[in-house]
Amino acid sequence: MRYRILAQLKKPHERVVCEIKHPSPAGTGVDLRGNLVGRVELTNTGKAVVARGAVGGSGRLTCSRCLKDFPWSFALEFTENCALRQVDDPAVYIAAEDEEDLVPIVDEELVDLSELVRQLVALEVPFQPLCKPDCRGLCPHCGAALDEEECRCSGEAVDPRWSKLKELLGQ
Ligand SMILES: [Zn+2]
Ligand SMILES: [Zn+2]
Repeated sequence: MRYRILAQLKKPHERVVCEIKHPSPAGTGVDLRGNLVGRVELTNTGKAVVARGAVGGSGRLTCSRCLKDFPWSFALEFTENCALRQVDDPAVYIAAEDEEDLVPIVDEELVDLSELVRQLVALEVPFQPLCKPDCRGLCPHCGAALDEEECRCSGEAVDPRWSKLKELLGQ
């Protein structure tokens, strides 16, 4: 997500539009398939570079209840304050704690939107993904996926491995 537009962006009140059609940056916490697509308008306000735009993509998540993979897609709009600082400069992250929280968007002589997009996508990924809002998950005793099969430990059914034990216990 690197663009040769740094010279234009250094001038205050300059506005540059970047089209996004790239594989997802690493570190978003989700396995995204294909390209992310979107559009980002960068404006140098004199104090920061304001990034305004939209980005979307799709991939697969694992349900936190039943552990099944399911398709997931997102589309988000954003307005973020960025700085013409090196994306991979560790000092940036330390400085960002006391200063304003500006996202770095420079890599050598190029504008690099990968850190901005990585942060936006990482925030969009659900903390506890669900394949559907009312997923009943797995039975804690027999591991049956409760939305798909009968729980094997419900009712009168007894696991044959346990019947010998029951005999020994005189039940
Ligand atoms: Zn589920
Ligand atoms: Zn069960």
